[in-house]
Amino acid sequence: MRKKIVAGNWKMNLSLEEAKALVSELKVKIDNYRNSSEGREMPQVVLFPPFPYLTRVADVFVNYDQVFLGAQNCHNEDQGAYTGEVSAMMIRSAGASHVIIGHSERRSQFGEGGIVLAEKTRQALKNGLTPVFCCGEKLPEREKNAHFKVVADQLLEGLFWMHKDQLSKVVIAYEPVWAIGTGKTATPDQAQEMHAYIRKLLADTYDQGLADEMSILYGGSCNAKNAADIFRNSDVDGGLIGGASLKPDDFFSIITALKP
Ligand code: PEP
Repeated sequence: MRKKIVAGNWKMNLSLEEAKALVSELKVKIDNYRNSSEGREMPQVVLFPPFPYLTRVADVFVNYDQVFLGAQNCHNEDQGAYTGEVSAMMIRSAGASHVIIGHSERRSQFGEGGIVLAEKTRQALKNGLTPVFCCGEKLPEREKNAHFKVVADQLLEGLFWMHKDQLSKVVIAYEPVWAIGTGKTATPDQAQEMHAYIRKLLADTYDQGLADEMSILYGGSCNAKNAADIFRNSDVDGGLIGGASLKPDDFFSIITALKP
């Protein structure tokens, strides 16, 4: 059965003190939930704090089998003269298990695309990290009905070069760019339609077994109010949450909205 996942992308937000407060509130909620009967159904939770807070957050959740930690980006080389950059090897050694690759903010603000994202994904896998690979169309692309092609091309360039055994370790996040941080969410039907398309693409390019096994998350203004409706879809395996992941009550409601 494929994994159900709720991931929180904090982006470039919070001071260390604020991050500590968020994590300790979340920890209390997660502890209570795990100890309740419902808690047995808890999805995987993956937190993506900014780099400087990784080890601190890792220490808090060190013995939690359902809570994981990830970085928001990694470099495409192992190490070297890349001032200001952080490698997958470093992220792994800081106690993280996941890394976001190809977030639309990295694509649009830092010019990342095709080959670089494929290299970053390779680095992540080589260092034992689970890549959370983001794809999604911009508004004009959806308006031109080009959204399926855009997403297919992003997956082709970023992921479909790899062997099936490697790809099975990747999590895909469909994040329509027009929905990220805008308050405009894709409708549950729009999310399901694209997730089903991605799964079919996986089946056609590789095989049905792989397609059935891979988790595909939705991201884009997902919040405590709309999460349950989006998660109810058969091809939506959870969410990558931005803004709402900074509010412990909201993020926790999203976690409990995801049923196995
Ligand atoms: C994101 O940044 O991945 C995201 C989905 O952001 P938001 O939930 O704020 O739209």
